[in-house]
Amino acid sequence: MSLYDNIRRVTPYVPGEQPQGNVIKLNTNECPYAPSPRVAAAIAACAADRLRLYPEPDCHTLKEALAAHYGVKPGEVFVGVGSDDVLALAFLTFFAGRKPILFPDITYSFYDVWAKLYAIPYETVPLGADFTLRPEDYARANGGIVFANPNAPTGLALPIAGVEEILAANPDSVVIVDEAYVDFGAETALALLKEHENLVVVRTMSKSRALAGMRIGYAFASKRLIDAMEDVKASINSYTMTTLSLAAGKAAIEDDAYFRNTIEKIIRTREETKAALRRLGFLVTDAKTNFLFAKKPGVSAQKLFEELRERGVYVRYFKKPRIDEHLRITIGTDEEMKRLLEELERLC
Ligand code: PMP
Repeated sequence: MSLYDNIRRVTPYVPGEQPQGNVIKLNTNECPYAPSPRVAAAIAACAADRLRLYPEPDCHTLKEALAAHYGVKPGEVFVGVGSDDVLALAFLTFFAGRKPILFPDITYSFYDVWAKLYAIPYETVPLGADFTLRPEDYARANGGIVFANPNAPTGLALPIAGVEEILAANPDSVVIVDEAYVDFGAETALALLKEHENLVVVRTMSKSRALAGMRIGYAFASKRLIDAMEDVKASINSYTMTTLSLAAGKAAIEDDAYFRNTIEKIIRTREETKAALRRLGFLVTDAKTNFLFAKKPGVSAQKLFEELRERGVYVRYFKKPRIDEHLRITIGTDEEMKRLLEELERLC
């Protein structure tokens, strides 16, 4: 026996790198545009003296703004420190059974990290050869289900009928739909909340609301499920959202015109980049996200990734089965995508 025998050992999630300086950063799916000017105003309006006090424990300011925007009740909303915090708490709250939870073999690589941390048994369900998720594969015994829609890093969206098929086949399991990227052109499962009490929809302000640095995530579900998450949260840390993040999140959600304009620009750039990559001979999935997933047959993705990096263009490469020939490329500004395409043309 030694001191170290009592220490929990885990293999953590590794996020994309955060290089400093003058680089083109297309590796962590951030928004290339600033958040709404109302966010800066809300932060400026927060007197430093208010920071003496603890923030609102029930986060009602932000929950009410989200509820009004999405047409649900405040009691059906949960907020947390980015959707990673919300997802981690959802795993801890809802996946407490003995049967394995299910998620796709290719998906957000944090899911298996949380499952292992919390000792939740899990099985991965292979996506089809074209990376599509087949709802019928989820009609089997399980202790819960989680998938990202649209999926990451493939960018592919499952039509809402497929989401409903999974919900209907699993009335006794909580089904978490991670909609981190839904604003970029996929169908949300929100409308299914009324019919399906097993649904939890998780969202983030990190991508479409340009607030990755503020760490704001949220979830929608029935009051009963949200209350269960609140109880687990209050058993760890009552105050996770800061006074500033509550104010910033409210301001961001209330500026819908600015949000729509940002989304429109990113989608336009995405579709232009998709077409340009295809002209360069890349196979590109029909991503509905703020990133693309592309491979060039006969060219090593790892080499491309390394050579782009040397030239100051950062994209994401996953050395993992089935996807180690692909690059995941975040949509930046038009100028940034032009630089990327020029570099790729030179390298290929
Ligand atoms: N879900 C998916 C599918 C993601 O790609 C990310 C971004 N890494 C997140 C959740 C978490 O994002 P955040 O914690 O910034 O809300």
